[in-house]
Amino acid sequence: MAQLPSQPNFPELEEEILAYWKKNKIFEQSIENRPADKTWTFLDGPPFITGLPHYGSLLSSIPKDVFPRFWTMKGYRVRRVWGWDCHGLPAENKVENKLGITRKKDIEEKIGIKKFIDECKLYVKDVSGEWEWYIDHVGRWVDFQHAYKTMDTDYMESVMWIFKQMYDKEYIYKGMRVSLYCPHCSTPISNFEVAMDADNYKDVKDFGSTYKYKLKDEEDTYLLAWSTTPWNKIVTPALAVNPELDYVKVKVDTDTGSENYILAKTTLGILDGIKYKVTDTLRGDKLVGKAFEPHYDFYTIDEGMKAWIVVAGDFVTADEGTGIVTLAAYGEEDLKVMKENKIQRVLHIDDEGHIKKDVPLFGGMYYLKANKALNEDLMSRGLLLKEEPYTHSMPHCWRCGTQLYYAPQDAWYVDIQRLKPQLFKNNEDVHWFPSHFKKGRFLKSMEAAPDWCISRSRYWGSPVPVWECDCGERFVPGSIDDLEKASGQKIEDLHRPDIDNVIVKCMKCGKDAHRVPEVLDSWIEAGSASFAEHHFPFNQSIKLEDFFPPDFIVEYTGQIRAWFYVLHVLSTALFDTHAFQNVVVTGVILGTDGRKMSKNFGNYPDPKMMINKYGGDALRLYLMGSPVMRGEDIVISEEEYRNQIKVFHLTLWNIVKFYELFNDVDAVVFDKNVLHAPQSDNILDEWLIVLLQKLINELTSDLEGYDTMSAVNKLTAFIDETSKWYVRRSRDRVGATAEDDSDKKKFYETFYYVLINFLKLSAPLAPFLSDTLYRHLTGATSVHLESWPEISENVDSNLIDDMNTIRKMVEAGHRSRKETKLKVRQPLAKVTLQVPKSFVIHNASHLDRAMSAIQDELNVKSCVIEYLDQENFGAIFDVSLTEDLIIEGETRELVRLVQGERRKLNLTQGDTIALIVPSFHESMKAYLLKKLAATSIEIGPKIEVKKI
Ligand SMILES: [Zn+2]
Ligand SMILES: [Zn+2]
Repeated sequence: MAQLPSQPNFPELEEEILAYWKKNKIFEQSIENRPADKTWTFLDGPPFITGLPHYGSLLSSIPKDVFPRFWTMKGYRVRRVWGWDCHGLPAENKVENKLGITRKKDIEEKIGIKKFIDECKLYVKDVSGEWEWYIDHVGRWVDFQHAYKTMDTDYMESVMWIFKQMYDKEYIYKGMRVSLYCPHCSTPISNFEVAMDADNYKDVKDFGSTYKYKLKDEEDTYLLAWSTTPWNKIVTPALAVNPELDYVKVKVDTDTGSENYILAKTTLGILDGIKYKVTDTLRGDKLVGKAFEPHYDFYTIDEGMKAWIVVAGDFVTADEGTGIVTLAAYGEEDLKVMKENKIQRVLHIDDEGHIKKDVPLFGGMYYLKANKALNEDLMSRGLLLKEEPYTHSMPHCWRCGTQLYYAPQDAWYVDIQRLKPQLFKNNEDVHWFPSHFKKGRFLKSMEAAPDWCISRSRYWGSPVPVWECDCGERFVPGSIDDLEKASGQKIEDLHRPDIDNVIVKCMKCGKDAHRVPEVLDSWIEAGSASFAEHHFPFNQSIKLEDFFPPDFIVEYTGQIRAWFYVLHVLSTALFDTHAFQNVVVTGVILGTDGRKMSKNFGNYPDPKMMINKYGGDALRLYLMGSPVMRGEDIVISEEEYRNQIKVFHLTLWNIVKFYELFNDVDAVVFDKNVLHAPQSDNILDEWLIVLLQKLINELTSDLEGYDTMSAVNKLTAFIDETSKWYVRRSRDRVGATAEDDSDKKKFYETFYYVLINFLKLSAPLAPFLSDTLYRHLTGATSVHLESWPEISENVDSNLIDDMNTIRKMVEAGHRSRKETKLKVRQPLAKVTLQVPKSFVIHNASHLDRAMSAIQDELNVKSCVIEYLDQENFGAIFDVSLTEDLIIEGETRELVRLVQGERRKLNLTQGDTIALIVPSFHESMKAYLLKKLAATSIEIGPKIEVKKI
């Protein structure tokens, strides 16, 4: 076999391996070679079909490959099939832009749903080929060919089945609740879609306004209410106070006489700048039931309903404002209190965010425009006490960027409140990594979760599978077959508008029942992935326990409230169980300036360029070895990425090169059985084997515990120790000048065994480099078809400790020797090594057997160990030189110079030379001939080396 290049180009080598894997179907073999009845399963979160991968998607793709490779080597079959997310607002927005649509109404009125949906299908038809390039080049094995799409009829039928299960268990209801609403997309948005990304909250400059509401039965007395949303002051059918809170009445002199204001006692600061006198104190409950004069009274009060009175609200606090709150139908708590008190509900905004036409003064205005107009009107009427600039963080549409508001929606909801006790219980069975998310962010977000609005007043999605009759009866099919039977129609496509044309006969009254117009939130589809990707339960070839709950999922922190949450909700609602066994939460990779990565900021290096420059393995080691794998955010660093090449790739490469170079010269035949550790009486070999055993044990437990950061650090430390101690101290054991053939053979047996096992351990994390070297050394098909090394019950940790102590002694020796200013190649008679008592060698034979290594390393003839009470390691050299020592020193210096010349001529270990030198010690002639592979040695004016 050709030798490994000494100047490797890692990205090029990775291209070669990629081509090799594809040509020889190594991925497919790695699955088929494992038993079908012993599986390890993982669930992939499908990316949006037309997007481009970014660092975040690459980050989560890497553990999605590391762990499948690991479990495959452990003997499990790991299915890996790609998926594409197709539905939802991202596609609709793109199509709207393409068709020049600016209002949702135009979709139905100008374009037609049919054409709109055809355009959506067209838009997601072209699968992004870019993904495959990135995924290949970060070394992720996944089947793109059989990728599923959330728009496939099979997938959508499973979603329909899931809805039916939840509906039958009464976890889904239709009702009026308040949720976030996008006036541009004209649809409710779920709170966790917005919460996923902190960038969806933007600071907005508004006014904090203090309004006056005149009491009906008290002269010149006003309740003060503070608000930051003037637009919904157009409709204030009630005010709320906290019945437990203390309020005060204050008297204020005005131009025309005096006025009385009522506000919470602790909020008097709001009257800053106004002269007042407190005239009365009263508890909130005394205010409840009082009537006030409305600012606007254009709406009618339905029979049995009330308006313009003060009601009690426990949620009212005196933390901000006046302790008196204006109520409107546009708040969840407001709506609840209004329902309880039978307060008239008025909706004055249309579904595009405009004030309804019939509203006097403001009709037709965009709701935010009405803010200014309303305050001007009330100011002129003396009903606005003051307005002050106020900046608050407001949610914006994650898709179109429009500022959102809360609005009551007659929509479909999942009854999260009823599910909560089971959601908490089932979370107990999940292994979270890092563990703090379990009781932290995940539990907290579940505790705070409102009911989940799952319907969207949109077009491109799975339909809400409910047919309603005027008589109130509903039909909810659980399959296409159910629907075909009920309608007598053949169902070709579950998308709108086709599905809207399917009519069923009402079971109760016999009239026609039509489907409700909404489609499902695409998060229902994301949460259904476990089942729908297998077309469960319609696919008879697979059982639930074959894939559910999956062993593993991974995504970034933003998905805690989103994907992880919806998966957990659906699995709890369907089977009262957890949705995944192990979940890894990564942090976020931020731009070089610590901000979110953004093309506009230009704050990150192009990932494709980086991969082409440094390769996929280096990216894997960089990211898997970083705290981002423990849920912490990191700043992208090209330096750390590049550094992997130096500390990992090149160190590993060079020690394998060392093995290869000498093995070619020595041509030693040795036992290449790598299943059992070879026996050696050389302490270096014995130590390296123990070190490997420890690494096998630790890496196995790291990867079983989903801790890649620890695993990468240990692999890197291992090659560093191998290079800096084992290889360095073994140089004299190999090559032409090494005389002990038995020791030479032991070196090869040991080193080969260790390298091969190390490459198996590094294979999941650095699959390209590991396979390149493994195949080179063994001639096997691929390291990824091999088994994971067996762990050892007993690891001789004393030997590891003792060798650490010995290395500390040597380091102290090097430091102290440097201070003597004598050349390193000058042998010295003796060194006394001082060792702190706390580092006493466990096993004296370890020290005895390492003694020659210590003496060689420090270039001394003898060595004495002294245990001292001090803290630090130290060394004292005897620097007196005898004639013999001087001769030996000069000879070694000569060897160094000649070897430099040999290197300049690119001579290999086996090449012999004729040598000319200015002088040498006759007594050392035999040594020089052998050491330098010279056939003759003569005196001349300067060193000359001639290859023979
Ligand atoms: Zn929007
Ligand atoms: Zn009916």
